[in-house]
Amino acid sequence: MQLSSTDPKSRRICLGFFVSLGLANVLVKAIGLQNAHAGDPDAQLLGDSVLPTVKAIEKNTLNIENEIDYKAISKAEWKKRLTPPQYKVCRENGTEPAFSGKYFDLKADGIYRCVCCETQLFDSIEKFDSKTGWPSFWKPSSKKMVGESVDHLLGYPRTEVHCNRCDAHLGHIFRDAPQTPTGLRYCINSVCLEFIPRDKLEKMKAKQKAN
Ligand SMILES: [Zn+2]
Repeated sequence: MQLSSTDPKSRRICLGFFVSLGLANVLVKAIGLQNAHAGDPDAQLLGDSVLPTVKAIEKNTLNIENEIDYKAISKAEWKKRLTPPQYKVCRENGTEPAFSGKYFDLKADGIYRCVCCETQLFDSIEKFDSKTGWPSFWKPSSKKMVGESVDHLLGYPRTEVHCNRCDAHLGHIFRDAPQTPTGLRYCINSVCLEFIPRDKLEKMKAKQKAN
């Protein structure tokens, strides 16, 4: 099959093939984006190897392995997906007021995942009570998934942390926790996180394995 073919019939067949391929690709991506945020946590994987529902859907249909590119999602789209406080903190480097979030005092056993892309970021095993009013962890679940940068928003350098899969701003790292194994305090905004209790997490993993 050649695009340069001068035979009109061949050209029509060729054109039809590429149009079909393009439509199928668009359809798959649309389905994937919708499902990754459809609020069905049971359909999601968690942890470093976690890939959103889109992968399963694509594999089941066209057998294409292609993860959602969360970094390519526009600001307008994020505004639609997130609440105003979530958008302000996650996408505009904001900070929630101390003692205002729902997780700063939570001691339950489970994991914390990114509210934007559902990637596991922290584990309650590494959470500690810093008494600062923000959820505090002495390390992330995986350094691979939590990126670092330097910001000067307050006029001096601070180590900012963000989700490596979707670039959501999460908080900052401070070296003021000598009581922890690392001496570090990952000071994270509650609004950037979604807590999943351990027992629910295990059920989700079991269900996914069975599928
Ligand atoms: Zn994320």
